[in-house]
Parts: sequence; C-alpha cells; structure tokens
Amino acid sequence: GAMPAAGALTLTFEQVTFGYTKYEPVLQDISFQLPAGHVLGIVGRTGSGKTTLSRLLFRMYDPQSGQICLNDVPLTEMRLVDLRQRLSLITQDVQLFDASVRDNLTFFDRSISDQQIHTVLAEIGLLDWYQALPEGLATRLGPTGNGLSAGEAQLLAFARVFLTHPDLVILDEASSRLDPVTEQVIEKAVDRLFEQRTGIVIAHRLATLQRVDEILVIEHGRIVEAGPRATL
Ligand code: ATP
Repeated sequence: GAMPAAGALTLTFEQVTFGYTKYEPVLQDISFQLPAGHVLGIVGRTGSGKTTLSRLLFRMYDPQSGQICLNDVPLTEMRLVDLRQRLSLITQDVQLFDASVRDNLTFFDRSISDQQIHTVLAEIGLLDWYQALPEGLATRLGPTGNGLSAGEAQLLAFARVFLTHPDLVILDEASSRLDPVTEQVIEKAVDRLFEQRTGIVIAHRLATLQRVDEILVIEHGRIVEAGPRATL
C-alpha cells in the first residue's frame, strides 16, 4: 500500500469513535492533527481513554467510525508491518522478544552496526548493564527480559528508538517507580527523543508537559480542551 514519505509525517484523527464493546464507546468523536515534528501531550484521568488511543494507532483495534491517517493515508490502507515500523511505543511494559539483545534493540535490522549500538547504549547510560552481559550483544534476553529492572527496560526502549528511527514515537509515562538517578537519565532521554521527532506523550509528569507543543485533555473519551501548551 501507499506510504507517506519518511521523516515528514503528519498524524490525523478524524472523528474517531471506538469502544471495546459496541454499546460503550471509550473514545468519542476524537479529531486532531499532529503536524510533523510536533509533540502532542495527552492528559486525562485514569480510564479516560489515553492508552486506547495509542492502541488504535498501532491498529491493535480499528475505530468503529472515523479514521486515522498518516500524511493523509488511512492506516487501514497501509501494510501492518510498514505501519508498525514507522511507530514506536515506549511504555513501562517494554515488549521484549525471546531473541538476542542485538535483535531486541534493532528489531532484527542487521544493517545496524555494533558500533552504533554501543554508542547509543553509552549515551543512554546502559554501558554498565551492557558490559555485564555474559555474551555481549548476542546474549539472549527472553520474553521477560531476564532480570532487567523497570528502569533498564525503559532505557532499552529508548535505545531502540534511537537506533531504528521511527517517524512517530508514543511515550506512555505510566507513573513508574524509578530511582532518582534512572529518573534523571530518562528525563534526558526524553529530551533527546523529541528533539526532531513527531511524538505523543501520554503524560503523567508535569516536567514532560513542558516539552510538548500542544496538549489534548481527554475526559470520558472526549476531547474537552485542545491547544498550544501556552494557552492551556
Ligand atoms: P490510565 O491513565 O489508567 O492508563 P487510560 O486513560 O489510558 O487510563 P484506557 O486504558 O484507554 O484509559 O481505558 C479506557 C476505558 O476502556 C476504561 O474504562 C477501561 O476500563 C476500558 N478498557 C481498556 N482496555 C480494555 C479492554 N482491553 N477491554 C475492555 N475494556 C477496556
């Protein structure tokens, strides 16, 4: 299917309505446009539909009505594998596969060199972790991450983004219990993450909201406020 040009990606939600069951909409009539290179903060209370919105983006579910487009191409017209290559999700529950550290970091892209991986791991503060791996990049991680701490797992997800260059990054900051040092490293990674990228932050921290260009406030599945950060 058609794909938008890399690096110039605009995301549009057009009157999107979705519910996990037919009769209980979780998102109602959601419309917004996120221009390429901007970062959108989504805030709302528990259960307001924030996570559901990111699931729609990855097409874990499709809207009951309305549509979602990347550069005016509806997600439903893209190949799923292409779509998911262009997006990256960073959450507390980092998805790891039963594969080597290298493959987990590169999504099996063999064109990424060891040197590139080392550089990114060093930048992100994972060098000590890496140096303790019994077989270096060839060490198998396993689906549960083989003893990775929550902080390390999150940093791995950042490293992945820096190595694979997705066009749109969704950061779901569930209030995690990270030690202050890891917290600081992650703050820095977030800064770098959004330097030149289109992004969505499901924000739980005020610090992160200061980095976004626009904010959507969702309540009970509806947008109740939207606009540039400065005006809200
Ligand atoms: P939080 O801030 O707690 O993560 P949220 O804003 O991300 O909340 P969602 O997880 O999107 O909210 O949930 C929105 C609504 O959809 C809630 O009422 C929730 O119970 C419901 N819901 C979420 N996932 C499912 C599911 N897989 N099946 C059925 N209902 C679901």
